[in-house]
Amino acid sequence: MTLGWLLLAVCLSLNAVAAAPALQTRHVLLVMVDGLRWQEVFTGAEEQLISKEFGGVVKSNDVRKVFWRDTPEARREVLMPFFWSMLVKQGQLYGNQHKGSVAQVTNGKNFSYPGYSEILCGFADPRIDSNAKKPNPNTTVLEWLNGKPAFAGHVTAFGNWEVIPYILNRDHSHLPVWTGFEKTDPKFNPHLALLEKLVSDHTPTWGTLMTYDTFIHAAALDHLKSRKPRVMYVAYGEPDEWAHEGRYDHYLQSIQHFDRFVRELWEAAQADPEMRGHTSLLLVTDHGRGTSNVSWKSHGQNIQGSGFIWMGALGPDTPALGERSNVPVVTQNQIAPTAAALLGLDYKSEQPQAGPVLADVLPRVGK
Ligand SMILES: [Zn+2]
Repeated sequence: MTLGWLLLAVCLSLNAVAAAPALQTRHVLLVMVDGLRWQEVFTGAEEQLISKEFGGVVKSNDVRKVFWRDTPEARREVLMPFFWSMLVKQGQLYGNQHKGSVAQVTNGKNFSYPGYSEILCGFADPRIDSNAKKPNPNTTVLEWLNGKPAFAGHVTAFGNWEVIPYILNRDHSHLPVWTGFEKTDPKFNPHLALLEKLVSDHTPTWGTLMTYDTFIHAAALDHLKSRKPRVMYVAYGEPDEWAHEGRYDHYLQSIQHFDRFVRELWEAAQADPEMRGHTSLLLVTDHGRGTSNVSWKSHGQNIQGSGFIWMGALGPDTPALGERSNVPVVTQNQIAPTAAALLGLDYKSEQPQAGPVLADVLPRVGK
């Protein structure tokens, strides 16, 4: 190709870029919940687990009244009403294996730190093999975005796990991360002081590593309304804890709360004149759980099925394709590049190991 032809080709491709309609997304909410199985998302409560024997449920009649219905469609709607109304009507939901949609992790570890890191960095790193409070050796998409002038100071994280500041490598990234246990500078957000008092005043259920999602959500929702962050990461954690304890009743209840939390974040964004119509939501879990009436409590490399997850997307640049069926496998390492792409940025240029952008979530970029 001569120089003239090359210049012409470059001009034509620049024209093509310029001619494409601009993305509407200006704000991204990346919301995850720890250890919520795809089985509950797509089929609701499991009958056998609403029992003393398998689910630690004492008042099984009461739990059945709230969560049991005769069809999987009715069960999932009562468990997760926001997912099964707004999300599937206006967005996309992946992972229903009964309908030929598989979502999975690529880290093969099927536990928390590797999953959080895969979500946030866009690739699996075999060096990440424990949940210990060790600084992440890799840069997350949040740190990368926060390093750009347009986003600097407008990226925030709220998470229900004391390891999250390490996963975000806070000492290096300087990202604001709220877990409820530390005292925030009142200048940053005065409302957080009350929530921090509530966290320190409640009797801890899970030691010093976690609190209730209630507090995390209240802080995140307040921040969204008052600061209109360009990028907000919210990580809820209760379902995993209740499942490990074998309490299926509390597991279901915390899932229903998670669905309500997502609704409240979404509705707050839509109620704000600046964020309305310019906010995209990405939803994901860090790992699945076992499939049997005993292994549902656990997950990990040796727990069959616990690498399968679900993921969802909703926003002005995402076609309303609803509950996906008969589609190619999607993977956890696609979340970070998709979050960046929704903001018009190419994360893969920075991190070549990252997975591809979710093609149907952002068709113009992903295909
Ligand atoms: Zn987890």
